[in-house]
Amino acid sequence: MQTLFVSDIDNTLTGDEKALQELGTLLKTQRESQEMLFILCTGRSLSAVLEGCQTEGLPEADVLICHVGTEIYLPPFHVGMQPLVGWQNWLRSQFSYRLAEYLVEDLEGWIPQPSSNQTEIKLSGYVEGPSAEATVAEIHRRAKEATEDYLIVWSHQKYLDILPAEAGKGKAIQYVKQHLGLTPTQVIVAGDSGNDNSMFEHGFQGIVVANAQPELKEWVAQLVDQPIYITQQPAAAGVQEGLRYFGGLP
Ligand SMILES: [Mg+2]
Repeated sequence: MQTLFVSDIDNTLTGDEKALQELGTLLKTQRESQEMLFILCTGRSLSAVLEGCQTEGLPEADVLICHVGTEIYLPPFHVGMQPLVGWQNWLRSQFSYRLAEYLVEDLEGWIPQPSSNQTEIKLSGYVEGPSAEATVAEIHRRAKEATEDYLIVWSHQKYLDILPAEAGKGKAIQYVKQHLGLTPTQVIVAGDSGNDNSMFEHGFQGIVVANAQPELKEWVAQLVDQPIYITQQPAAAGVQEGLRYFGGLP
């Protein structure tokens, strides 16, 4: 394997079915010739990823990182399987869902997401509208005063996740590399929104698709000395463009 390629799913791969199909064929060829190991890294649950592989044409992957970097799955994948226990235990040792709830207790503007989006190490809600920024600032303020350390991720000016400080997509990728003993020549990541920010912090080569949210574009703009490429094309076509730019595709 020369390239470890890690991609977000929603609005990074999805949005243009034809372009996604074309990218999927290219990734399959690279994986089959052992030139690439491919990771899907998403806010989705495992079941939503597996469903997407069946119904949305998501490319097959070698590793799945779900729920914003709080769950890691190795193949063979199936609904109901358990995530990698070492990573789970590490995160669980730093996080209590009950304590995290204090950060949003009686907070106007906080709407919890459905229970299918909650896990014991991820508290998720919606924060949107004109007062959203003040609400998010208040969550950060409470987090500073709390005894546990948190990673607070707000994306699309709507979805807010409260995670253990050591979680997030970027750190999950580092854990997978270490756990599997991977020594790729290059690591390329691709994303479109604020829950992808942490993927761009580790010196990996970063693809930001043209349709990315302002929060990600602003985030990468201040990451000096990091190899970042903002594509001309949106979604899967942009991912293909970025992979060619960094030499991840011939
Ligand atoms: Mg996305």
